[in-house]
Formats: sequence, structure tokens, C-alpha cells
Amino acid sequence: MPSEAATLLLRGGRLAAAQRDADSLLIAAGRIAWIGRAEDAPAADRVIDLQGSRVVPGLTDAHAHLFMRAQELLNLELGPKATSIAELLQRLQAACAAAAPGEWVMSADYSEQFLHERRHPTRAELDAVSGGRPVLLRRSGGHLSVANTAALQCAGFDAATPDPQGGTIERENGELTGVLTENAADIVAALIPPPSQARSIAAIRKVADACLRYGIVAVTEAAVGFNNGFDIEWAIWNALRREGGLPLRMGFMLRIDPADARRLSLKPSGVDPHWQVRTLKFFVDGIIGARTAAFFAPYADRDTSGLLMEPPDELRAKVIEGHAEGWQLAAHVIGDRGIAHWLDCLAAAQAAAPRADARHRVEHFAVRGPQAVAQLQALGAVVVPQYGFLRRLGASFAEAVGGARAQQLYPGRTLQDAGIVIAGSSDHPIGPLSPYLGMAAAIDRRAASGLLLNAAEALTVDEALAAYTAGGAFAMGHDGWRGRIAAGQAADLAVLDRDILELPPPAIETTAARLTLIAGDVAFSDGTLAPK
Ligand SMILES: [Zn+2]
Repeated sequence: MPSEAATLLLRGGRLAAAQRDADSLLIAAGRIAWIGRAEDAPAADRVIDLQGSRVVPGLTDAHAHLFMRAQELLNLELGPKATSIAELLQRLQAACAAAAPGEWVMSADYSEQFLHERRHPTRAELDAVSGGRPVLLRRSGGHLSVANTAALQCAGFDAATPDPQGGTIERENGELTGVLTENAADIVAALIPPPSQARSIAAIRKVADACLRYGIVAVTEAAVGFNNGFDIEWAIWNALRREGGLPLRMGFMLRIDPADARRLSLKPSGVDPHWQVRTLKFFVDGIIGARTAAFFAPYADRDTSGLLMEPPDELRAKVIEGHAEGWQLAAHVIGDRGIAHWLDCLAAAQAAAPRADARHRVEHFAVRGPQAVAQLQALGAVVVPQYGFLRRLGASFAEAVGGARAQQLYPGRTLQDAGIVIAGSSDHPIGPLSPYLGMAAAIDRRAASGLLLNAAEALTVDEALAAYTAGGAFAMGHDGWRGRIAAGQAADLAVLDRDILELPPPAIETTAARLTLIAGDVAFSDGTLAPK
């Protein structure tokens, strides 16, 4: 690591800076001290020849679940590796055989979308390989789980158990299928013993390393408490911080109510360059995959229009409270009814206690209603979409919502032209971590199947990059000092292995960083660019 006083010159690159002719920059005391042409460069203690590489501002992933991904790494990994029910059962059988009698066997990255049968395993299939151990397969994203009989019994669920508020216990011919959604799945998940702190911290560090390899310098952890409950997860994050934190600039969205925050003596920390805690996260509706995202009209393929996670008045009261207490508020909202409800709650909070630049957040914003854009403008709210979902799930989303609503999925141009700040994100591990995949999909609007999802909503490559740089910094309140390549800005930079501003979207997708700098320190190097 360089000493505080050392200066570093990056020379001979293609800089994504307003100063178009600049190819070099000088870093001093963690900031960009000078930017210009190599021949005019001041002397420096060390020099890195960029070999013509593209340099972009260090990226922000405005919504990712590092903790959730870490848990996936610690549990039975199914994910794309299991491509059929038979393969899934084989892996599960091996994991159950290795577990102690009565020990829970859990997977956190299951999805029927990876199985060619495109169905969940049945409760009987799970029972046949689990040797009486309780098994819970959590669908990637955590909104749906499949349980075996032993797990259902641990929760006290039987055919006569009524659905809990905000969740369903699926039945067929009066028998439990093992499929649980939302709060019903959470009740079972809460019975699983928490992960060990040391193992969790090591796994989170691995996930952070994966971020650095993409040139990501900042991450907002999207819902502390979503996997194992707030107290357990927050204790792990705080232990990690005591052990030196992460190289990334971290922001946290806490999945707790304002009343819980008061009970825990948590107050919004304000803006902090490395570790900020100033956001409360709500879940307003569910997801399209489980048909729990809330719409005004039913899904195209099922007789349901989704559900709100809690009674509308209760959420409104919490939002008014959290807003008045100075929190930035964020909500998971997918369907037009969920989005409309969230924006109404924010408007009610602003009416009750006007707050300049509250910068509240709207996560996902998949299918908006007719009033949403005007309301976003009035509120000055930030939209945090995952364009990568267009690639991976675009075709199945389009099928589920149908026709006109499919044309509205994850808008880009509409938001950009309305002057609404877009903060790019992955929702990893629900979506792939690569920000370049998200950028590519924002530009070409293609599902993996080739299906085109409303070309009129396409962003330009500059706009897509801005969403992951200046947009992400804005959402964290870091605008003004981070997110651009200009003199005076923090020296947060990603030197890329290809020129994303010159390539077609499919070639952008697989981009990696050669070098990632945070406040001028090398946080990741692929070894190809060495200082002299
Ligand atoms: Zn999320």
C-alpha cells in the first residue's frame, strides 16, 4: 500500500471523463489531483501505464445482497448447477447423508427456473431422499420456499393450518405440497439455526472480492435481516466492521420498522464514505416469479393479482414515522399496485412533514402504473432497477404479466427523459453480479431468448454507465465527491479489460476489471498493470 503522501500517475488510458482529450490523471491523498494529457503530466512517485485501457469511475451496485450470497456459499448450492429434478434430489440426498440426524439442510439459491421440468420438487420427492432431516429449499430471492414434511412439522404446519398474513401454504387436494410463499416461508426459515459469525464473515469477504473484480467500489446491502433476522445479521456485520470492515464503500438498508430502530437505538448515520446506515427497507409486494407482486389486474397466466405484504394503512403509518425521523426510505416494489401504494405512502409522508432532498428510493420498479413517473418527479425519488433481469428472466416475466404490461418492464428512456435518477444494481444473488450485463441489457433490451422488450426504453451506453456510477453515488448521497472522473473527485476508478463505450452490448457483458482503485489504493489487480 502506498503511503498517504505518495502520488500515483495513471498514464495513457481512455478516460470516461468530461475532458475528452485527457488520457492521464494524477492521484494524491486519495483524490484525483490533476487530469490532462500525458505530455503535460506532473511528476509522480509511481506511474502505471494504462496501455490504452478504458477507465471508468468506480462502479456502485446500488442494491445487492452480499449477506445472502455469502449464505448461499455456506449452504447446499443448487443454483444453475442442478438442471433437473433428478439432479437436484441427488445433490440433496448427498447433503442430507452428510448432515447429522435432525440437522437442517438448506439451500438458498434454489429455483425451478433452472430445472428443465420447470416445476418444484414434490414434498414426497424431498421426503424420499432426506432421511427424516428437515429440508428447506429457498428460492433465489427468498420469496418462496419448498419444504419437506419434517420441516413443515417443525413449524407446526399441517393441512388444517390457515395461511398466515402476507404468505401462503400451498395445498393440492387438501394436502400440503411443501410450497410456501413469503411470510409462510419466513416462519419456517426462522427455525433454522443461524450461521456462525466467523464463517459468515469469511464468506462475505469472498463476495466483496468478487465485486472488486468487476470494478465495483461501493455496494448498498439491500435488506439487513432478510435471511436470518435483523439481530443476527446486524451482529455479523458489526463484527465484520470491528475486524476492519470491507474495502468497499458500504451502505446498509435495514429491514426493520422505525419502532424497531428506536428500540435498538439506531438513528440515521448521515453520509459516511465507508459505512453508512441511513436507510430503512420495506417490502411492499412480492415477486413476479411467485406471482406475489401486486398488480391492479390479474396475472396473464394465473387467477391472482398478487398481494401486499401488510395492510396498507400500517405501511403508510410506518413511512410517515420513518420519514419524520430522518431516514432515507426504500421499498421493494414490483407490480403497478405495489408501486402506486409506495409512492402514495411517500407522498403522505412528505405532506405530513416536508423534507427537502429526502431522496427516498424505489427498488425494482418493474411494471409502473400511469401516475408513477409524475409522482417520482414530484418526490425527487431515486429508481433502483435491475436491467439484468431483462436478460435472465425477461421472457418468463413477459409471459406472466402479458401484453401491454410486458412493454413496460424495467423502463429506461422514460425515466431518463423525465429527469429521474437511475441507480444501477444487480440484486445479486437473485441477479448475476456483473454490472456490465445490466448495462448491456439496458442498452439492447433483449431477453436471453432473443425476445426484444420495448426498444423504445433503451438507454445509451453513456446513460447506462452513468446509472452504475453517478446514479449509484447519488442514491448513497455521495454525489459531489464520488462517481465521476474529474479533478477533486475521489480516486475511485475501474480500469477495464475492454472499451465498453465502443463495443456492442453482447461484448460488454463479459467485461472484467484489470485494476480497481478505491481512494487511490489498489483494491484489486489482475496483475497485468504494474506500477513503476
Ligand atoms: Zn433485493
